[in-house]
Amino acid sequence: MPQISRRLDSFTESVIRRMTRISNQYNAINLSQGFPDFDPPVELIDALKTAAEEGPHQYEITWGSQKFREALAAKQTKFMGIPIDADSEIVVTCGSTEAMMVAMMTVCNPGDKVVVFSPFYENYVADTILSGAEPIYVPLEAPTFDFDREELEEAFKQGPKALILCNPSNPTGKVFTEEELQFIAELAIKYDVFVIADEVYEHIVMKPYKHTYIAALPGMFERTLSCSSLSKTYSITGWRLGYIIAPGYVIENAKKVHDFLTVGAAAPLQAAALAGLKLPEQYYAELGEVYTGKRDLFLKGLDEAGLKYVAPQGAYYVMVDISEFFKGKDTEFCEWMIKEVGVAAVPGSSFFKEDVSNYIRFHFAKKDETLLEAVKRLASLREKAKKGI
Ligand code: GLN
Repeated sequence: MPQISRRLDSFTESVIRRMTRISNQYNAINLSQGFPDFDPPVELIDALKTAAEEGPHQYEITWGSQKFREALAAKQTKFMGIPIDADSEIVVTCGSTEAMMVAMMTVCNPGDKVVVFSPFYENYVADTILSGAEPIYVPLEAPTFDFDREELEEAFKQGPKALILCNPSNPTGKVFTEEELQFIAELAIKYDVFVIADEVYEHIVMKPYKHTYIAALPGMFERTLSCSSLSKTYSITGWRLGYIIAPGYVIENAKKVHDFLTVGAAAPLQAAALAGLKLPEQYYAELGEVYTGKRDLFLKGLDEAGLKYVAPQGAYYVMVDISEFFKGKDTEFCEWMIKEVGVAAVPGSSFFKEDVSNYIRFHFAKKDETLLEAVKRLASLREKAKKGI
């Protein structure tokens, strides 16, 4: 038989999506793959109905509809605090998953090195493999998930082409401080490196923490590819609308990669999503508050269940330490938990380069009633686990 591409040799199935499938099989509460079980704002649903009736139903301009890019440029200019040009500095993609892949393929040659913090969102490894790049891992040290500055500079000394920065961070919930970002920026400038920023949780930040856009730091716009999406901000993960914001010379090339990969994001959904991009600023403040409430509710449940965790500052994930009552493989633990406790999480090992098996990741982007039922089930987790898995 002909052989499958060698590129796939080092590929594994996505652990996150696998946990969702097992969770569905056992009808568990799925706190593994991060997506809401509540509806998007009504403005988006109404706009979707209109788009169904009035179109567009055919291809849009490959790098995104004019209206969508203009609305996005206006919104991001406001939040990022830097002027974004709708024509030359944006490419609209099929989710930030495509945005990250396009960003990598736009700046990396096969054999280039890319700095990746560990733990990391699992797609980044696939992105590096598909673009032929090699990761240099820099650990984020638990429990604060901070990085060591010397270690980071050592990685830069190896001549990387880019650094991938997930901020606010999936899976840790860390929000990088302006000072940390300033340090990363100084290294990127000193060693002439691109920053590929994944900022899909830009509006999900808990007080007193604050999101800083690395592209907005002095000297950084010209070397940063800011990837994000509408998925988390408007609770529309299934619409697959993402984008890259970067300087003109990068976007000119990213448009080509995107065009040949997917042609374009769904035209009627771009039209409908305009309703989201035009929501008042207050919407984003409220979103932060809603998620702060969900985090507090879920963490209270974890406290009551006697579970140890690292409190998230942003995004909608929490890493729970299971080492006190389980010594085996976290994958085995998560599969057992789905079947015996009725709650799904992602084994933490799938986010680490290092051999770390004591964390599981829950997400809390669920209705309060779903979270309350989940914490009710998790109340007996330690006891059940101690009896044996
Ligand atoms: N970003 C989400 C997570 O980490 C969803 C991932 C996905 O399946 N695209 O769970």
